[in-house]
Amino acid sequence: MGHYFDYAATTPVCREAVEAAVDAMTGGWGNPSARYPFGTDAGTATERWRNEIAKALHCQKDEVFFTSCGTEGDNWAIYGAVELNRRVGKHIITTAIEHSAVLEPCKELERSGYEVTYLKPDRQGRISVQQVEEALREDTVLVSMMLVNNELGTILPIAEVGRCLKEYNSRALFHCDGVQGFLKVPCYPKELCVDLLSISGHKVHAPKGIGALYIRKGVKLPPMIRGGGQEHGLRSGTEATAQIAAFGAAVQVGCQQMEQIVAHMREQKELLWTLLQEKLPNVKRVGEGTAPHILTITMPGYKSEVVVRVLGDMGICVSSGSACHKGKASHVYAALGLPKKELDGVLRISFSKETTREDVEALAEGLVQVSKQLFISLS
Ligand code: PLP
Repeated sequence: MGHYFDYAATTPVCREAVEAAVDAMTGGWGNPSARYPFGTDAGTATERWRNEIAKALHCQKDEVFFTSCGTEGDNWAIYGAVELNRRVGKHIITTAIEHSAVLEPCKELERSGYEVTYLKPDRQGRISVQQVEEALREDTVLVSMMLVNNELGTILPIAEVGRCLKEYNSRALFHCDGVQGFLKVPCYPKELCVDLLSISGHKVHAPKGIGALYIRKGVKLPPMIRGGGQEHGLRSGTEATAQIAAFGAAVQVGCQQMEQIVAHMREQKELLWTLLQEKLPNVKRVGEGTAPHILTITMPGYKSEVVVRVLGDMGICVSSGSACHKGKASHVYAALGLPKKELDGVLRISFSKETTREDVEALAEGLVQVSKQLFISLS
């Protein structure tokens, strides 16, 4: 596969997750709701894996609800929070740099009469607690902010916002999209003072198709799916036992090794930035991304789609922005107000425990080649 630098889009499934999934599919494949031992064993295993997620989030097991992905968790949190707070008002606060899994539900709510304040980032991609404080109103029902931005790697001040909402005695529920922050930066809902926090498996070496929503005890979020009453009646449907097992196992190892993995990603990120500054005089950082796994740069004058394609031909995978945009211009980079040349040249490079020094050197060399080739073809 060459050299992969798009781990913020998705990660390979780790061995422990594969083994746990295979066990759940071939050994303990009973229905967790069944009453005989073969079923209850599957139920016990599911609860054991739920406990691994809860341990990683420093929360209680019955505050973790499995979902199919981060998008589902975000949708559930947003629609559920506004429904729960329907008597409080119709005002929502979010940011202009959220993932579309948050922005699209917000836009839909605007169409049905809600007023949404989209906080704008500064040039570095930062959002401040003061902005939230200024936007907060008596009728604010929900504040939704991500922990780590997926296109910039910026860390948003979630705990400060959580404390601010408490100080104001706000009745707004506080949701955090923790998809890019989970296992990369401290992502503990109690410490972050959030009511709801969504995470996703495929960003942390579990398969696609599994995620979780933390719902703080006492928050009576309406069900996401009604039916047979699984997930304490909040998300019916027979549990995805294999996906859950894989998610639990991936999180278990990810948690045990978090310190080393984060240090490794940070090291690779710093090495790449050092090499790029040496080799490419025009390269610039985009935003103040301090998360360990995301480096966003721009090569002004070189169109990112072309660079991504040429690097792809060399076996190097980087992104020109979030994979979810499918070719559309990124609202996140646009929100920074970059000059057009810089905007057109943005590349998102993301790292994991699997990134090696050879990968980093190959990418740096690849970018030098690309800059020469494209320069020649343009001149
Ligand atoms: N939120 C953020 C910040 C993301 O980066 C992503 C995926 O890229 C999502 C939500 C959606 O997660 P999923 O792909 O699991 O639906």
